[in-house]
Amino acid sequence: MAHLSDIEIAQQAELAPVTQIAEDLGIDSTLVDSYGRYKAKIDLAAIDETKIESNKLVLVTAMSPTPAGEGKTTTTVGLADALRQLGKNVSMALREPSLGPVFGLKGGACGGGYAQVVPMEDINLHFTGDFHAISAANNLLAAMLDNHIYQGNELGINPKRVVIKRCVDMNDRQLRHVVDGLGSPVDGVSREDGFEITVASEVMAIFCLATSIPDLKEKLGNMIVAYTYDQQPVTARDLGAVGAMTALLKEAIKPNLVQSLEHTPAIVHGGPFANIAHGCNSILATKLSRSLSEYTVTEAGFGADLGAEKFLDIMCRITGTRPNCSVVVGTVRALKMHGGVAKTDLDQENVDAVKAGLPNLLKHVENMVEVYQLPTVVALNLFPTDTEAEIALVIEECARRGVQCVRSEVWARGGAGGVDLAREVIRLCESPAEVSFAYQDDDSVEEKINQLVQRVYGGSAVEIAPKAQRVIAMIEKMGLSHLPICMAKTQYSFSDDPRLLGSPRDFTLHVKNVKVNAGAGFIVVYTGDILTMPGLPRVPAAARIDVDERGTISGLF
Ligand code: ADP
Ligand code: MG
Repeated sequence: MAHLSDIEIAQQAELAPVTQIAEDLGIDSTLVDSYGRYKAKIDLAAIDETKIESNKLVLVTAMSPTPAGEGKTTTTVGLADALRQLGKNVSMALREPSLGPVFGLKGGACGGGYAQVVPMEDINLHFTGDFHAISAANNLLAAMLDNHIYQGNELGINPKRVVIKRCVDMNDRQLRHVVDGLGSPVDGVSREDGFEITVASEVMAIFCLATSIPDLKEKLGNMIVAYTYDQQPVTARDLGAVGAMTALLKEAIKPNLVQSLEHTPAIVHGGPFANIAHGCNSILATKLSRSLSEYTVTEAGFGADLGAEKFLDIMCRITGTRPNCSVVVGTVRALKMHGGVAKTDLDQENVDAVKAGLPNLLKHVENMVEVYQLPTVVALNLFPTDTEAEIALVIEECARRGVQCVRSEVWARGGAGGVDLAREVIRLCESPAEVSFAYQDDDSVEEKINQLVQRVYGGSAVEIAPKAQRVIAMIEKMGLSHLPICMAKTQYSFSDDPRLLGSPRDFTLHVKNVKVNAGAGFIVVYTGDILTMPGLPRVPAAARIDVDERGTISGLF
């Protein structure tokens, strides 16, 4: 049989009407707002706090990503399908894809092979418009800020200390640094400025951490957008922007319901990147899923040092959510790359390289088990090129450390390929988990960064640039140093140097800048050369995408 692409498999699927998926979940039809036949928004009234605690939450994370692709979303979808095949009442909570990676290097974010959520073209492109709403809310705030300065600047905002940026959901390096407000005196006040990608914006983080409309308003109001000439923070509330921003977000804040290829319910909502933002879907999506299903499977972005760390240290800390177990996804191919093999040579058997790459996977597993105290299983996401000797080595090395490594074939076989993984997940969820965090609220900002570097990353020291030191001092003065840290760091390495693969030790992490997101409730720490506005690669994925005369999309990836 010819090998089908993800989009071809998705286009052959027979979808159930979304109203049917909602009905099977027991959602009252008056709470279901259909966006066409296969997508719906679910009213927040469907969330039932009394049911959440007794239902299980499974966190899917991974080893450090490589260009070979690890398959977290694929595993999340396949695991949910497998739990359903075992007769469990299950749904999944996923992030919405950003147009940045869809048109850039990575492609979409709906899983792959026979473990996908559908309709994948819609989910990957615009979906129900949430990211447009988030961009609009952010950009309204930026417009009101610059207008305030232009109209006489009653608050005394220092145009050199504006911290909010406009955003677009696109990889567009041209917008990273701009000068705006050029022209005549009626054309605004000119200043140096810049854009970030929507998924890195604070409004996106707030959208994902808000637990209700009043909480959304409170968090939006607390956003610091600029500082005055005498160093006082200016908030979105000071500018009177909160009501209108909330109006733009009031439909977007309702979680979106779709389905997998096997009709397992999928709640797809919110989507911050894990390397430059906090990396998990909206808390409302997770709460909705847990209100409706005995098992919720959710994914945190990139490797466990980024996505899972922030899921636990930020999202769980702020919202009180606790997972019951974690699944760390690894692949033989990624292990080989961490073991020094070039991407072009991954198809050749190389047991030694797998062995050399294993410290990366094992360090992530150790973090989940020892730092966060989470019952953990390794899902080995099998590729057609993996050999028995390579697979056996990974299983054996995990077993030596007391962790089960289970073969996952969900990409090739859907839920049927994930039944063994599902059984181990069910077993792990039976044992009580008392989740710990990597640092305490009352640690100083520097201490928190140190704890992450030493306990989670395996490094030894932190170097904080003078500019960052000054912001940390200001955060302490504002009484905000109890907030958790959102580390902006490369996803490719435990360190801030993307070339340091495997499990590097004794490195120094370089902190270049710090920013307080007082609305979202965390402190962003910028390390290495991390950018909040990515660029497109030499040949973007966009160059392969097309539409035929019937409106059918090809080449989405
Ligand atoms: P992540 O969520 O970790 O970024 P995805 O699940 O989105 O990864 O998968 C990335 C890409 O890799 C997708 O295009 C998917 O089809 C492909 N992929 C995932 N698992 C496999 C596998 N076992 N065999 C072949 N391709 C796979
Ligand atoms: Mg993913």
